[in-house]
Amino acid sequence: MTVKAYAAKSKSGLLEPFEYQAKELGADQINIEISHCGICHSDIHLLDDALGITKYPYVPGHEIIGKIVAAGDSVKHLKVGDRVGVGWQSGSCHHCEFCVTGNENVCSGMESTCVTQYGGYASHFQCDASFAVKIPDGLDSADAAPLMCGGVTVYQPMRYYNLTPNQKVAVVGIGGLGHLAVKYAAAFGCEVTAISTSANKKAEALEWGAEHFVDSSAKGTMAKLANTYDVILNTVSADLHWDEYMKAVKPLGKLIMIGLGTADVTVSAPPLVLGQRIVGGSWIGSPSMIEEMLEFSARKKIAPKIEKFEMAKVNEGIKAVRENKVRYRAVLVN
Ligand SMILES: [Zn+2]
Ligand SMILES: [Zn+2]
Repeated sequence: MTVKAYAAKSKSGLLEPFEYQAKELGADQINIEISHCGICHSDIHLLDDALGITKYPYVPGHEIIGKIVAAGDSVKHLKVGDRVGVGWQSGSCHHCEFCVTGNENVCSGMESTCVTQYGGYASHFQCDASFAVKIPDGLDSADAAPLMCGGVTVYQPMRYYNLTPNQKVAVVGIGGLGHLAVKYAAAFGCEVTAISTSANKKAEALEWGAEHFVDSSAKGTMAKLANTYDVILNTVSADLHWDEYMKAVKPLGKLIMIGLGTADVTVSAPPLVLGQRIVGGSWIGSPSMIEEMLEFSARKKIAPKIEKFEMAKVNEGIKAVRENKVRYRAVLVN
């Protein structure tokens, strides 16, 4: 099968039409006809080879939604015609201590959807069926696309670090990830504070379920919030004054870093040790976590705020994301 894709030939280059032949379908694989693919910031990090792992021609895309058009003989849980999604991960070793306990997202044998193969800015995508998740009927395909990476990236830390309804949770950065984090934390019943340097995002953040908004653009704002939050979820890549954020966490609380673009964190030992605070991280989510997140999103009617671009206008979409003009996630439509 010939796959029609969009690829960059060189670092930070424009994407151009690019065709390649799909490999023969494996017994445990499916082939998906792509209807939608989100543009995630990580696609752009990879396009710019910011991680030093990009191979060109590079086909981005790891927020894939589409219909299964072929399924290998061993695939039992999905069938041709099913509407499915694939996120950052599209394969794992299946045998390590993490895979066998449902933590495939930290398997060192991970296949990354648009790193170890050509990604989802394309007509089709083929992968291990274990990493395709059925999309619930209540979710629109365009809305579901950003949930496959952005959605689970913010949902999984809430589950992994056991958010409870009595907790005060602050979300730092109200962008593609942060706006979803506000919605999920509010749906978990937490008392949510949105923290942003853009005061003009206040009205939207409150609409999404935040009870408080902190404009962090003024110096020293966080220092005034010592011992306030049970959990701070950081979604921004800027290097912040980490000690102030650490101190804004209550004793026994947690400062959690999410997203591939987060900065290095340096914190002083005393607030960490004396208050038994934790600095933690979170990385995408397993297929079962993605399935749960999609069901929860459908049930609670949580969807990202999106802007759509035709697949053929992929460069316009990338430019808009690069310039932070998209509120809040961009989705390519075939
Ligand atoms: Zn992503
Ligand atoms: Zn494994």
